Amino acid sequence: MKATNENSGSLLELHQVSKTFESGPAEVSVLTDIDFSVTSGETVAIVGPSGCGKSTLLNLIGTLEKPTSGSIAFDGQDILQLNANQLAEFRNQSIGFIFQLHHLLPQCSVLENVLIPTLVNKNRSGARQRAEALLDRVGLSDRVAHLPGELSGGERQRVAVVRALVNRPRLLLADEPTGSLSSDGAEQLTALLLELNKEENLALIVVTHSMSVASSMGRVLELDHGTLSTYAEKN
Ligand code: ADP
Ligand code: MG
Repeated sequence: MKATNENSGSLLELHQVSKTFESGPAEVSVLTDIDFSVTSGETVAIVGPSGCGKSTLLNLIGTLEKPTSGSIAFDGQDILQLNANQLAEFRNQSIGFIFQLHHLLPQCSVLENVLIPTLVNKNRSGARQRAEALLDRVGLSDRVAHLPGELSGGERQRVAVVRALVNRPRLLLADEPTGSLSSDGAEQLTALLLELNKEENLALIVVTHSMSVASSMGRVLELDHGTLSTYAEKN
């Protein structure tokens, strides 16, 4: 499943994407005709009130849910046409996900946690080296054998970042990644994401309630009443 779209420069392209949830007899329309694209290595923040559909939008991009209508292309390929195996591979190889809570496995060491996404790789040589290099990169080289419970909140979130990046995805989706951190921790995590963005040409889509996190991204979009609009843009 290799298809590249070198001409447009668009890594991700949503066209007229809508999402409606059935809620008993009622239908809840969460996203309406969203047009949204992200180029390779771009950084985007998404802000908006609680319940406006930010997580739903990330879940659609991350293929955890399907839109009710519209199309989503990644690297020129229509990801809504992928079968279950291709979807699993796409999620594993092309996208990294981090959440407000780190979702690390408590009984596994830091190194074991970050190697989980590599277990399905056909070619696993280099995975451990990559994991160790990234852990070193985020200042956790002396914590590889620790359990998540032995780390601070900021350290756990850095482990989650490493786990999300271990397979070299092109796009990182972060759903309120600093929501459980102190303001210092939030600042450090944001700085780390921006450094990795530069070093690995990693595109970032960060959902956040923090204006300071949002304003450090290249573009800030606001989601409200099902529609995305530009909130701020750096030149
Ligand atoms: P946000 O992340 O911006 O707080 P969400 O994307 O989690 O918002 O939710 C947007 C809306 O969609 C909310 O009204 C929520 O109740 C509804 N919603 C989300 N997921 C589901 C679901 N699986 N079934 C029904 N309604 C849902
Ligand atoms: Mg949410």
